[in-house]
Amino acid sequence: MTARIIDGKAIAAQLRARVAAEVQRLAREHNLTPGLAVVLVGENPASAVYVRSKAKQTEEAGMRSFDHRLPESVSESELLALVDTLNADPAVHGILVQLPLPPQIDSQKVLSAVDPAKDVDGFHPLNAGRLATGLPALTPCTPLGCVMLAKTVHASLAGMEAVVLGRSNIVGKPLIQLLLAENATVTVAHSKTRDLAEVVRRADLLFAAVGRPEMVRGAWIKPGAAVIDVGINRVAGADGKSRIVGDVAFAEAEQVAGAITPVPGGVGPMTIACLLVNTLRAACAIRGVPAPAL
Ligand code: NDP
Repeated sequence: MTARIIDGKAIAAQLRARVAAEVQRLAREHNLTPGLAVVLVGENPASAVYVRSKAKQTEEAGMRSFDHRLPESVSESELLALVDTLNADPAVHGILVQLPLPPQIDSQKVLSAVDPAKDVDGFHPLNAGRLATGLPALTPCTPLGCVMLAKTVHASLAGMEAVVLGRSNIVGKPLIQLLLAENATVTVAHSKTRDLAEVVRRADLLFAAVGRPEMVRGAWIKPGAAVIDVGINRVAGADGKSRIVGDVAFAEAEQVAGAITPVPGGVGPMTIACLLVNTLRAACAIRGVPAPAL
């Protein structure tokens, strides 16, 4: 069997088109244009690439994009002052502080300073707590995208055996909560898990977010499973050039799985599309208009 490829690029493009249509409707019916502020500290080239694509896709969706660049040497209090200004700005409905931040800055302090109503990354402890207790919340974008991709394979995840590899605050933990909310039976594995292969073999739905290139082997995967690969790992190719691979050994896994996301072109494009979804939802909640179902 060869797995169906879950085309994250195409699915994300469709989602962005639905967001853009809703942005037009909000402008027409409520005179509301959602605005997203992205704060980039320093010159990290990967972060600069992400921030550029976020700004481009925000504008393509008809939203306002506010770009803030601060030098690597910025102090924590200067960054907190910028966050305060954005919290108070009525044109800004979403605030994203691009991680990682330089060592003189306490990232948790900065993430906790963002107004929870504008926390489109879903990293504020209040939103994490709301998600964990089943209250409406702004939800981290990558896990949100993962669940949307899984639901293109199975319309309902209820009762399915889901295995999440990784328990980070930005991917694994919120993903567990989202899957529970979909009534999946969830197992989480991490670096201290004994016999990872045996845990993976239970999964009807496998989510790999460990940051270990091609760690999950094809032989671990249950035949027919849906595999969502979150990993983005840069490795040296045989030709000396670097290439990006996921956490799953794709060539092996696609022989066994029922459906699988490629890397790149799977979860990555969904992350930015979900950021636009969150910005739209935040703008609606702040203005007090019903959020569209997307
Ligand atoms: P973290 O490093 O924060 O977390 C990795 C998790 O994997 C930890 O829970 C760790 O366990 C677990 N882990 C590490 N090694 C093993 C192992 N050998 N066996 C089992 N579990 C292991 O990573 P992130 O969650 O931030 O990111 C994970 C991956 O997803 C990365 O490749 C990252 O680049 C990618 N990513 C992709 C995004 C996208 O848009 N597509 C967005 C965000 C991340 P423990 O807790 O015990 O240390």
